Amino acid sequence: MSLAWQHFQPASDTFQGNIMMVTGAGRGIGRELSLTLARHGARVILCGRTQKHLESLYDQIMAEQLPEPLILPLDLNKLSQAECDQVSQAIEQQFGHLDALIHNASELGPLTSLSNYPISTYDQLMQVNVRAALMLTQGLMPLLLQAKSGRLLFTSSSVGRQGRAFWGGYSISKFATEGMMQIFADELENISQVRVMAINPGATRTEMRARAYPAENPGQLKTPSELMPCYLYALSAAGSQWHGQTIDAQPR
Ligand code: NDP
Repeated sequence: MSLAWQHFQPASDTFQGNIMMVTGAGRGIGRELSLTLARHGARVILCGRTQKHLESLYDQIMAEQLPEPLILPLDLNKLSQAECDQVSQAIEQQFGHLDALIHNASELGPLTSLSNYPISTYDQLMQVNVRAALMLTQGLMPLLLQAKSGRLLFTSSSVGRQGRAFWGGYSISKFATEGMMQIFADELENISQVRVMAINPGATRTEMRARAYPAENPGQLKTPSELMPCYLYALSAAGSQWHGQTIDAQPR
């Protein structure tokens, strides 16, 4: 069965004038998403840990003569309240609102039994995958509420709905992500236009997937660009009925 969004191809000006922030923009799915949003008219705030990854994406976007993005280097593992406030103030001063906040950055951590999972690594993973997403959302919520139709998008995983042996802290962090998404959706439902949802990308050809499945042939996996119809649908007016749910970008 083909779903409405699977072949979604919105006009190239769909996000014209929109300000959209993507975490983990430098590589993998976040990079493809940032480029795709720029190709549809958005000014994208490229948030990531490694400056050179963000700069090469900036160069690519400029080479295509798309709306100029902003580079926001942030190590989510060290994210402070002061940094969240600075980011919020900078966006407020420059744009007055934020149309979309897309939490895409995640760390995988070790794939090992939970009984032996190193607690210091667990703390770091929860900091990047969960706590930083909460802090950024809290800091940027006033700006999302100022948008005409704000979007708050989380990134889940199949191991965020069904625990699986050896997926440890990553799996726990994705359960927490699902919970956070549902709580924000419920809290915002009747008081705002902000739509809150999560996307589960499914097996996708990126460095994270290669690290989780080193023996797999990456050529058999979907590429990040094949996920884009789902993201575009979720972030555009077409997806405004999606709220409080996780969408499988690669439905079975
Ligand atoms: P990648 O590992 O390829 O990219 C992860 C991105 O997150 C990188 O840009 C990286 O930045 C950034 N990041 C990691 N740690 C930090 C940090 N401490 N501070 C700031 N940024 C950080 O992952 P994918 O593209 O595969 O995954 C994207 C999302 O999709 C993740 O949430 C993942 O859990 C989810 N997902 C992926 C699947 C897949 O098969 N690929 C399947 C299911 C879910 P840097 O450039 O600095 O390294």
